[in-house]
Amino acid sequence: MERTNNVKLDLAGIGVGPFNLSIAALLAPKQQMNATFFESRDSFAWHPGLLLDNTNMQTMFLKDLVSAVCPENPYSFLSYLVKNKKFYRFLSAELNCISRHEFSDYLAWAAHQLNNVQFSTRVEHVEYKGDHFELETNQGVYHANNLCIGTGKVPSMPECATPFIGDRVFHAAEVGLRERDFTGKRVAIIGGGQSGADIFLNVLRSKWGKVASLDWISRRSNFQPLDEASFTNEFFTPDYVNAFVGLPASVKSAEVTAQKLTSDGVTQKALLEIYQELYHRFDVLKEDKWVRLLPHRTLEGMKDVGGQYHMTIGNALSRQNELHQADIVILATGFKAPYPACLDSILPLLDLDEHNRYQMTPDFELKWQGASSNKIFAVNAGMHSHGIAEPQLSLMAWRSARIINRLAGKPLYDIDSGKGMIEWISPAAIEELVEA
Ligand SMILES: Cc1cc2nc3c(=O)[nH]c(=O)nc-3n(C[C@H](O)[C@H](O)[C@H](O)COP(=O)(O)OP(=O)(O)OC[C@H]3O[C@@H](n4cnc5c(N)ncnc54)[C@H](O)[C@@H]3O)c2cc1C
Repeated sequence: MERTNNVKLDLAGIGVGPFNLSIAALLAPKQQMNATFFESRDSFAWHPGLLLDNTNMQTMFLKDLVSAVCPENPYSFLSYLVKNKKFYRFLSAELNCISRHEFSDYLAWAAHQLNNVQFSTRVEHVEYKGDHFELETNQGVYHANNLCIGTGKVPSMPECATPFIGDRVFHAAEVGLRERDFTGKRVAIIGGGQSGADIFLNVLRSKWGKVASLDWISRRSNFQPLDEASFTNEFFTPDYVNAFVGLPASVKSAEVTAQKLTSDGVTQKALLEIYQELYHRFDVLKEDKWVRLLPHRTLEGMKDVGGQYHMTIGNALSRQNELHQADIVILATGFKAPYPACLDSILPLLDLDEHNRYQMTPDFELKWQGASSNKIFAVNAGMHSHGIAEPQLSLMAWRSARIINRLAGKPLYDIDSGKGMIEWISPAAIEELVEA
Protein backbone atom coordinates (compact mmCIF):
# COMPACT_ATOMS: atom_id res chain seq x y z
CA MET A 1 0.00 0.00 0.00
CA GLU A 2 1.24 3.50 -0.79
CA ARG A 3 2.59 5.46 2.15
CA THR A 4 1.14 8.98 2.46
CA ASN A 5 3.13 11.69 4.20
CA ASN A 6 0.71 13.93 6.02
CA VAL A 7 2.94 16.97 6.34
CA LYS A 8 2.20 19.46 3.57
CA LEU A 9 5.44 20.90 2.23
CA ASP A 10 5.81 24.58 1.36
CA LEU A 11 8.04 23.50 -1.51
CA ALA A 12 8.74 20.18 -3.22
CA GLY A 13 11.83 20.18 -5.43
CA ILE A 14 11.89 17.58 -8.20
CA GLY A 15 15.46 16.51 -9.02
CA VAL A 16 18.68 17.38 -7.22
CA GLY A 17 21.32 18.58 -9.62
CA PRO A 18 23.34 21.69 -8.73
CA PHE A 19 20.41 24.02 -9.41
CA ASN A 20 17.84 22.66 -6.99
CA LEU A 21 20.68 21.84 -4.60
CA SER A 22 21.50 25.54 -4.49
CA ILE A 23 17.92 26.32 -3.47
CA ALA A 24 18.07 23.56 -0.85
CA ALA A 25 21.31 24.98 0.57
CA LEU A 26 19.92 28.51 0.75
CA LEU A 27 16.64 27.31 2.27
CA ALA A 28 18.38 25.19 4.92
CA PRO A 29 18.92 28.06 7.40
CA LYS A 30 15.43 29.48 6.79
CA GLN A 31 13.36 27.55 9.29
CA GLN A 32 10.11 29.25 8.27
CA MET A 33 9.97 27.22 5.06
CA ASN A 34 9.38 23.52 4.98
CA ALA A 35 10.93 22.06 1.82
CA THR A 36 12.04 18.69 0.54
CA PHE A 37 14.02 18.10 -2.63
CA PHE A 38 13.51 14.65 -4.15
CA GLU A 39 16.26 12.91 -6.13
CA SER A 40 15.85 9.57 -7.86
CA ARG A 41 19.53 8.62 -7.56
CA ASP A 42 20.74 6.91 -4.38
CA SER A 43 23.50 9.45 -3.94
CA PHE A 44 24.54 12.71 -5.53
CA ALA A 45 26.08 12.50 -9.01
CA TRP A 46 26.95 15.34 -11.37
CA HIS A 47 26.92 14.19 -15.02
CA PRO A 48 28.83 11.06 -13.94
CA GLY A 49 29.34 9.78 -17.52
CA LEU A 50 31.34 12.91 -18.36
CA LEU A 51 33.46 13.06 -15.24
CA LEU A 52 36.59 12.23 -17.23
CA ASP A 53 40.30 12.83 -16.67
CA ASN A 54 41.50 16.34 -17.54
CA THR A 55 38.06 17.93 -17.43
CA ASN A 56 37.75 21.34 -15.85
CA MET A 57 35.04 23.75 -14.91
CA GLN A 58 34.04 26.45 -17.35
CA THR A 59 33.09 28.67 -14.44
CA MET A 60 34.97 29.95 -11.43
CA PHE A 61 34.66 28.10 -8.12
CA LEU A 62 33.21 31.16 -6.37
CA LYS A 63 30.13 30.67 -8.53
CA ASP A 64 29.10 27.98 -6.10
CA LEU A 65 25.77 27.00 -4.57
CA VAL A 66 25.42 30.01 -2.29
CA SER A 67 28.27 32.57 -2.23
CA ALA A 68 26.86 35.11 -4.66
CA VAL A 69 24.01 35.90 -2.26
CA CYS A 70 25.14 34.46 1.07
CA PRO A 71 28.87 33.80 1.46
CA GLU A 72 28.34 32.97 5.14
CA ASN A 73 26.16 29.98 4.28
CA PRO A 74 27.82 26.72 5.49
CA TYR A 75 27.62 25.17 1.98
CA SER A 76 29.97 27.53 0.16
CA PHE A 77 32.98 26.24 -1.77
CA LEU A 78 35.30 27.98 0.69
CA SER A 79 33.57 26.20 3.55
CA TYR A 80 34.07 22.90 1.68
CA LEU A 81 37.80 23.62 1.40
CA VAL A 82 38.12 24.47 5.07
CA LYS A 83 35.98 21.61 6.41
CA ASN A 84 37.86 19.14 4.23
CA LYS A 85 41.15 20.54 5.52
CA LYS A 86 42.64 21.45 2.18
CA PHE A 87 42.34 25.25 2.18
CA TYR A 88 46.10 26.05 2.22
CA ARG A 89 47.00 23.39 -0.33
CA PHE A 90 44.20 24.65 -2.57
CA LEU A 91 45.71 28.15 -2.46
CA SER A 92 49.21 26.85 -3.18
CA ALA A 93 47.92 24.90 -6.17
CA GLU A 94 47.03 28.28 -7.79
CA LEU A 95 44.11 26.85 -9.73
CA ASN A 96 42.42 29.38 -11.99
CA CYS A 97 39.79 26.85 -12.78
CA ILE A 98 39.14 23.71 -10.81
CA SER A 99 38.51 20.20 -12.10
CA ARG A 100 34.99 18.89 -12.57
CA HIS A 101 35.97 16.11 -10.17
CA GLU A 102 36.53 18.63 -7.39
CA PHE A 103 33.36 20.61 -8.09
CA SER A 104 31.40 17.38 -8.16
CA ASP A 105 32.95 16.35 -4.84
CA TYR A 106 31.97 19.74 -3.40
CA LEU A 107 28.37 19.35 -4.60
CA ALA A 108 28.14 15.83 -3.17
CA TRP A 109 29.63 17.05 0.14
CA ALA A 110 26.84 19.65 0.39
CA ALA A 111 24.05 17.36 -0.83
CA HIS A 112 24.76 14.64 1.70
CA GLN A 113 24.66 17.02 4.65
CA LEU A 114 21.40 18.73 3.77
CA ASN A 115 18.37 17.43 5.66
CA ASN A 116 16.00 18.81 3.03
CA VAL A 117 17.43 16.56 0.29
CA GLN A 118 15.94 13.08 -0.01
CA PHE A 119 17.69 10.54 -2.24
CA SER A 120 16.31 7.31 -3.76
CA THR A 121 13.00 9.07 -4.37
CA ARG A 122 11.79 9.21 -7.93
CA VAL A 123 8.86 11.56 -8.53
CA GLU A 124 6.65 9.54 -10.85
CA HIS A 125 3.52 11.60 -11.15
CA VAL A 126 2.32 15.02 -10.03
CA GLU A 127 -1.35 15.86 -9.78
CA TYR A 128 -2.84 19.28 -9.09
CA LYS A 129 -5.57 19.00 -6.46
CA GLY A 130 -7.02 22.51 -6.77
CA ASP A 131 -5.21 23.92 -3.74
CA HIS A 132 -1.96 21.90 -3.64
CA PHE A 133 0.15 19.36 -5.54
CA GLU A 134 0.19 15.65 -4.86
CA LEU A 135 3.45 13.92 -5.72
CA GLU A 136 3.50 10.17 -6.25
CA THR A 137 6.95 8.74 -5.69
CA ASN A 138 8.47 5.30 -5.24
CA GLN A 139 8.67 6.20 -1.54
CA GLY A 140 5.02 7.15 -1.13
CA VAL A 141 2.83 10.19 -1.67
CA TYR A 142 3.80 13.75 -0.70
CA HIS A 143 1.82 16.97 -0.70
CA ALA A 144 3.19 20.41 -1.42
CA ASN A 145 1.92 23.93 -1.97
CA ASN A 146 4.61 24.79 -4.47
CA LEU A 147 6.94 23.00 -6.87
CA CYS A 148 10.39 23.62 -8.26
CA ILE A 149 11.25 21.55 -11.32
CA GLY A 150 14.97 20.79 -11.47
CA THR A 151 15.11 17.62 -13.51
CA GLY A 152 17.87 18.80 -15.86
CA LYS A 153 18.29 17.83 -19.49
CA VAL A 154 18.56 14.63 -21.49
CA PRO A 155 20.92 13.72 -24.37
CA SER A 156 20.09 15.13 -27.78
CA MET A 157 21.20 13.05 -30.78
CA PRO A 158 20.98 13.33 -34.58
CA GLU A 159 18.00 11.36 -35.77
CA CYS A 160 20.03 9.36 -38.28
CA ALA A 161 22.13 7.90 -35.45
CA THR A 162 19.32 6.84 -33.15
CA PRO A 163 18.59 3.43 -34.78
CA PHE A 164 22.18 2.38 -33.94
CA ILE A 165 22.34 3.43 -30.29
CA GLY A 166 24.11 0.74 -28.27
CA ASP A 167 27.62 -0.26 -27.20
CA ARG A 168 29.30 1.21 -30.28
CA VAL A 169 27.16 4.27 -31.00
CA PHE A 170 26.31 6.28 -27.91
CA HIS A 171 25.90 9.76 -26.51
CA ALA A 172 28.83 11.47 -24.81
CA ALA A 173 26.93 11.41 -21.50
CA GLU A 174 27.34 7.61 -21.48
CA VAL A 175 31.03 7.38 -22.21
CA GLY A 176 32.25 7.15 -18.62
CA LEU A 177 29.40 5.02 -17.31
CA ARG A 178 30.88 1.64 -18.22
CA GLU A 179 34.14 -0.11 -19.02
CA ARG A 180 35.20 0.59 -22.60
CA ASP A 181 37.89 -0.78 -24.85
CA PHE A 182 38.55 1.09 -28.09
CA THR A 183 41.83 -0.70 -28.82
CA GLY A 184 42.42 -1.00 -32.56
CA LYS A 185 39.08 0.66 -33.40
CA ARG A 186 38.32 3.62 -35.67
CA VAL A 187 36.63 6.18 -33.44
CA ALA A 188 34.58 9.17 -34.61
CA ILE A 189 33.47 11.94 -32.27
CA ILE A 190 30.58 14.05 -33.53
CA GLY A 191 30.30 17.50 -31.96
CA GLY A 192 32.81 20.29 -31.43
CA GLY A 193 31.75 21.62 -28.03
CA GLN A 194 33.32 21.09 -24.61
CA SER A 195 32.19 17.46 -24.22
CA GLY A 196 33.54 16.61 -27.68
CA ALA A 197 36.85 18.23 -26.76
CA ASP A 198 37.07 16.42 -23.41
CA ILE A 199 36.40 13.05 -25.00
CA PHE A 200 38.77 13.77 -27.90
CA LEU A 201 41.63 14.46 -25.48
CA ASN A 202 40.89 11.30 -23.51
CA VAL A 203 40.79 9.14 -26.67
CA LEU A 204 43.98 10.82 -27.92
CA ARG A 205 45.68 9.90 -24.65
CA SER A 206 44.47 6.28 -24.98
CA LYS A 207 42.22 6.31 -21.93
CA TRP A 208 40.19 3.48 -23.46
CA GLY A 209 43.11 1.80 -25.31
CA LYS A 210 45.16 2.78 -28.35
CA VAL A 211 42.74 3.41 -31.22
CA ALA A 212 43.45 2.81 -34.92
CA SER A 213 42.16 6.25 -35.92
CA LEU A 214 40.32 9.21 -34.47
CA ASP A 215 38.10 11.67 -36.35
CA TRP A 216 36.65 14.76 -34.69
CA ILE A 217 33.71 16.03 -36.72
CA SER A 218 32.10 19.38 -35.94
CA ARG A 219 29.40 21.44 -37.60
CA ARG A 220 31.11 24.60 -36.37
CA SER A 221 33.42 26.41 -38.77
CA ASN A 222 36.43 25.62 -36.58
CA PHE A 223 37.19 24.27 -33.08
CA GLN A 224 35.98 27.42 -31.45
CA PRO A 225 36.95 28.82 -28.06
CA LEU A 226 34.69 29.77 -25.23
CA ASP A 227 34.33 33.53 -25.20
CA GLU A 228 35.42 34.39 -21.67
CA ALA A 229 36.46 38.01 -22.09
CA SER A 230 35.71 40.48 -19.31
CA PHE A 231 32.87 42.24 -21.07
CA THR A 232 31.43 38.94 -22.25
CA ASN A 233 31.13 37.94 -18.61
CA GLU A 234 28.67 40.80 -18.18
CA PHE A 235 26.10 38.53 -19.87
CA PHE A 236 26.38 36.33 -16.80
CA THR A 237 25.29 38.97 -14.30
CA PRO A 238 21.94 39.71 -12.67
CA ASP A 239 22.09 43.16 -14.24
CA TYR A 240 22.04 41.73 -17.77
CA VAL A 241 19.32 39.19 -16.95
CA ASN A 242 17.17 41.97 -15.49
CA ALA A 243 17.53 43.89 -18.75
CA PHE A 244 16.98 40.75 -20.85
CA VAL A 245 13.78 39.34 -19.33
CA GLY A 246 11.52 42.09 -20.62
CA LEU A 247 12.80 42.13 -24.21
CA PRO A 248 10.56 41.01 -27.09
CA ALA A 249 10.88 37.28 -27.87
CA SER A 250 12.48 37.85 -31.29
CA VAL A 251 15.19 40.07 -29.78
CA LYS A 252 15.86 37.49 -27.06
CA SER A 253 16.22 34.73 -29.58
CA ALA A 254 18.67 36.75 -31.72
CA GLU A 255 20.73 37.65 -28.63
CA VAL A 256 20.97 34.03 -27.46
CA THR A 257 22.04 32.88 -30.94
CA ALA A 258 24.68 35.60 -31.20
CA GLN A 259 26.06 34.69 -27.76
CA LYS A 260 26.38 30.95 -28.39
CA LEU A 261 30.13 30.75 -27.85
CA THR A 262 29.93 32.47 -24.48
CA SER A 263 28.69 29.16 -23.09
CA ASP A 264 29.10 26.53 -25.82
CA GLY A 265 32.69 27.12 -26.91
CA VAL A 266 35.64 25.05 -25.70
CA THR A 267 37.87 26.43 -22.93
CA GLN A 268 41.20 27.87 -24.09
CA LYS A 269 42.88 25.47 -21.67
CA ALA A 270 41.35 22.39 -23.32
CA LEU A 271 42.06 23.65 -26.85
CA LEU A 272 45.68 24.39 -26.02
CA GLU A 273 46.14 21.02 -24.36
CA ILE A 274 44.76 19.31 -27.46
CA TYR A 275 46.92 21.37 -29.80
CA GLN A 276 50.06 20.71 -27.78
CA GLU A 277 49.33 16.99 -27.56
CA LEU A 278 48.85 16.81 -31.35
CA TYR A 279 52.05 18.80 -31.94
CA HIS A 280 54.04 16.55 -29.64
CA ARG A 281 52.79 13.34 -31.21
CA PHE A 282 52.87 14.25 -34.87
CA ASP A 283 55.58 16.95 -35.14
CA VAL A 284 57.95 15.88 -32.38
CA LEU A 285 57.54 12.11 -32.02
CA LYS A 286 56.62 11.85 -35.74
CA GLU A 287 53.90 9.27 -35.25
CA ASP A 288 52.05 8.29 -38.41
CA LYS A 289 48.98 10.51 -38.67
CA TRP A 290 46.00 8.70 -37.14
CA VAL A 291 43.93 11.75 -36.14
CA ARG A 292 41.77 13.99 -38.33
CA LEU A 293 40.17 17.29 -37.34
CA LEU A 294 37.07 17.82 -39.46
CA PRO A 295 35.17 21.06 -38.82
CA HIS A 296 32.43 22.57 -41.03
CA ARG A 297 30.85 19.12 -41.31
CA THR A 298 27.45 17.76 -40.34
CA LEU A 299 26.44 14.14 -39.86
CA GLU A 300 23.59 13.66 -42.36
CA GLY A 301 23.17 9.90 -42.61
CA MET A 302 24.39 6.64 -41.17
CA LYS A 303 24.37 2.95 -42.19
CA ASP A 304 25.56 -0.21 -40.52
CA VAL A 305 27.53 -2.08 -43.19
CA GLY A 306 28.67 -5.39 -41.76
CA GLY A 307 29.36 -3.94 -38.33
CA GLN A 308 31.08 -0.81 -39.64
CA TYR A 309 29.30 2.53 -39.59
CA HIS A 310 29.26 4.40 -42.88
CA MET A 311 28.49 8.05 -42.25
CA THR A 312 27.42 10.60 -44.81
CA ILE A 313 28.90 13.90 -43.74
CA GLY A 314 27.93 17.20 -45.37
CA ASN A 315 30.88 19.56 -45.82
CA ALA A 316 29.71 23.17 -45.61
CA LEU A 317 32.85 24.47 -47.34
CA SER A 318 33.03 22.18 -50.36
CA ARG A 319 29.21 21.81 -50.35
CA GLN A 320 29.75 18.12 -51.05
CA ASN A 321 28.97 15.00 -49.12
CA GLU A 322 31.85 12.94 -47.78
CA LEU A 323 31.76 9.29 -46.72
CA HIS A 324 33.47 8.47 -43.44
CA GLN A 325 33.74 5.11 -41.69
CA ALA A 326 34.05 4.26 -38.02
CA ASP A 327 33.69 1.34 -35.62
CA ILE A 328 32.74 3.53 -32.66
CA VAL A 329 30.68 6.73 -32.93
CA ILE A 330 30.44 9.05 -29.94
CA LEU A 331 27.71 11.68 -30.17
CA ALA A 332 28.80 14.80 -28.31
CA THR A 333 25.74 16.50 -29.69
CA GLY A 334 24.38 18.28 -26.67
CA PHE A 335 21.33 18.07 -24.47
CA LYS A 336 17.67 19.00 -24.70
CA ALA A 337 15.05 19.74 -22.09
CA PRO A 338 11.83 17.80 -22.59
CA TYR A 339 8.94 18.21 -20.18
CA PRO A 340 9.50 15.79 -17.34
CA ALA A 341 7.13 12.84 -17.76
CA CYS A 342 5.97 13.19 -14.15
CA LEU A 343 4.32 16.51 -15.10
CA ASP A 344 2.06 15.06 -17.80
CA SER A 345 -1.14 15.89 -15.99
CA ILE A 346 0.00 19.45 -15.17
CA LEU A 347 1.09 20.20 -18.73
CA PRO A 348 -2.39 21.18 -20.03
CA LEU A 349 -2.56 23.79 -17.24
CA LEU A 350 0.67 25.52 -18.26
CA ASP A 351 0.72 28.62 -20.46
CA LEU A 352 3.22 27.76 -23.18
CA ASP A 353 4.56 30.11 -25.86
CA GLU A 354 4.18 29.58 -29.61
CA HIS A 355 7.21 27.25 -29.56
CA ASN A 356 5.65 25.17 -26.74
CA ARG A 357 8.11 26.48 -24.18
CA TYR A 358 7.35 27.50 -20.62
CA GLN A 359 6.34 31.12 -20.17
CA MET A 360 8.25 32.38 -17.17
CA THR A 361 8.03 35.44 -14.97
CA PRO A 362 11.27 37.26 -14.06
CA ASP A 363 11.20 35.22 -10.79
CA PHE A 364 11.44 31.90 -12.70
CA GLU A 365 7.80 31.13 -11.97
CA LEU A 366 5.84 29.36 -14.69
CA LYS A 367 2.70 31.04 -15.92
CA TRP A 368 -0.16 28.62 -15.46
CA GLN A 369 -3.85 28.29 -14.72
CA GLY A 370 -3.67 27.07 -11.12
CA ALA A 371 -4.27 29.13 -7.98
CA SER A 372 -1.74 31.92 -7.44
CA SER A 373 -0.96 30.43 -4.00
CA ASN A 374 0.38 27.33 -5.77
CA LYS A 375 3.48 28.28 -7.67
CA ILE A 376 5.57 26.24 -10.07
CA PHE A 377 9.19 27.29 -10.54
CA ALA A 378 11.63 25.78 -13.02
CA VAL A 379 15.41 25.91 -13.25
CA ASN A 380 17.50 25.09 -16.34
CA ALA A 381 14.42 25.54 -18.48
CA GLY A 382 14.40 29.21 -19.43
CA MET A 383 17.24 30.21 -21.71
CA HIS A 384 14.61 31.61 -24.08
CA SER A 385 13.18 33.82 -21.33
CA HIS A 386 16.21 34.67 -19.15
CA GLY A 387 19.11 34.42 -21.57
CA ILE A 388 22.33 32.54 -22.08
CA ALA A 389 23.24 32.42 -18.37
CA GLU A 390 20.12 30.50 -17.39
CA PRO A 391 21.43 26.94 -17.97
CA GLN A 392 24.82 27.83 -16.46
CA LEU A 393 26.12 27.76 -12.90
CA SER A 394 27.07 31.45 -12.95
CA LEU A 395 23.80 32.80 -11.63
CA MET A 396 22.42 29.79 -9.81
CA ALA A 397 22.75 31.23 -6.29
CA TRP A 398 21.17 34.50 -7.37
CA ARG A 399 18.32 32.67 -9.12
CA SER A 400 17.78 30.46 -6.05
CA ALA A 401 17.53 33.54 -3.83
CA ARG A 402 15.08 35.11 -6.23
CA ILE A 403 12.89 32.01 -6.15
CA ILE A 404 13.09 31.84 -2.35
CA ASN A 405 12.13 35.51 -1.98
CA ARG A 406 9.18 35.02 -4.27
CA LEU A 407 8.04 31.96 -2.34
CA ALA A 408 8.41 33.72 0.99
CA GLY A 409 6.65 36.82 -0.30
CA LYS A 410 9.43 38.93 1.22
CA PRO A 411 13.16 39.42 0.66
CA LEU A 412 14.84 36.69 2.72
CA TYR A 413 17.96 37.32 0.64
CA ASP A 414 19.33 40.55 -0.78
CA ILE A 415 19.51 39.97 -4.53
CA ASP A 416 20.73 43.41 -5.49
CA SER A 417 24.26 42.84 -6.74
CA GLY A 418 24.92 46.41 -7.80
CA LYS A 419 25.27 47.92 -11.24
CA GLY A 420 27.15 46.21 -14.04
CA MET A 421 29.78 47.89 -16.20
CA ILE A 422 27.48 48.21 -19.18
CA GLU A 423 24.19 50.04 -19.47
CA TRP A 424 22.25 47.61 -21.67
CA ILE A 425 19.06 49.61 -21.82
CA SER A 426 17.95 52.59 -19.81
CA PRO A 427 16.58 51.79 -16.33
CA ALA A 428 13.22 53.36 -17.26
CA ALA A 429 12.97 51.06 -20.29
CA ILE A 430 13.64 47.98 -18.11
CA GLU A 431 10.66 48.79 -15.90
CA GLU A 432 8.45 49.48 -18.90
CA LEU A 433 9.41 46.23 -20.64
CA VAL A 434 8.90 44.04 -17.56
CA GLU A 435 5.49 45.59 -16.87
CA ALA A 436 4.35 45.20 -20.52
C1 LIG B 1 29.46 17.65 -18.63
C2 LIG B 1 28.89 19.00 -18.28
C3 LIG B 1 29.69 19.94 -17.70
C4 LIG B 1 29.17 21.20 -17.37
N1 LIG B 1 30.02 22.12 -16.84
C5 LIG B 1 29.54 23.34 -16.58
C6 LIG B 1 30.43 24.36 -16.07
O1 LIG B 1 31.62 24.14 -15.90
N2 LIG B 1 29.91 25.58 -15.80
C7 LIG B 1 28.58 25.85 -16.00
O2 LIG B 1 28.16 26.98 -15.74
N3 LIG B 1 27.73 24.92 -16.47
C8 LIG B 1 28.18 23.68 -16.77
N4 LIG B 1 27.31 22.75 -17.28
C9 LIG B 1 25.90 23.13 -17.49
C10 LIG B 1 25.02 22.98 -16.19
O3 LIG B 1 25.58 23.74 -15.16
C11 LIG B 1 24.88 21.55 -15.73
O4 LIG B 1 24.27 20.77 -16.73
C12 LIG B 1 24.08 21.36 -14.42
O5 LIG B 1 24.29 20.05 -13.97
C13 LIG B 1 22.59 21.61 -14.58
O6 LIG B 1 22.01 21.35 -13.33
P1 LIG B 1 20.51 20.85 -13.09
O7 LIG B 1 20.32 20.89 -11.62
O8 LIG B 1 19.57 21.61 -13.93
O9 LIG B 1 20.42 19.38 -13.73
P2 LIG B 1 21.18 18.00 -13.52
O10 LIG B 1 22.56 18.21 -13.03
O11 LIG B 1 20.99 17.27 -14.80
O12 LIG B 1 20.35 17.26 -12.38
C14 LIG B 1 19.02 16.85 -12.54
C15 LIG B 1 18.72 15.79 -11.49
O13 LIG B 1 17.33 15.50 -11.50
C16 LIG B 1 17.14 14.12 -11.23
N5 LIG B 1 15.81 13.74 -11.69
C17 LIG B 1 15.32 13.80 -12.96
N6 LIG B 1 14.03 13.41 -12.98
C18 LIG B 1 13.67 13.12 -11.70
C19 LIG B 1 12.47 12.68 -11.08
N7 LIG B 1 11.35 12.47 -11.80
N8 LIG B 1 12.45 12.47 -9.75
C20 LIG B 1 13.57 12.68 -8.99
N9 LIG B 1 14.75 13.09 -9.54
C21 LIG B 1 14.80 13.32 -10.87
C22 LIG B 1 18.29 13.47 -11.99
O14 LIG B 1 18.59 12.17 -11.48
C23 LIG B 1 19.44 14.46 -11.76
O15 LIG B 1 20.21 14.12 -10.65
C24 LIG B 1 27.80 21.50 -17.62
C25 LIG B 1 27.00 20.54 -18.23
C26 LIG B 1 27.53 19.31 -18.57
C27 LIG B 1 26.64 18.29 -19.25
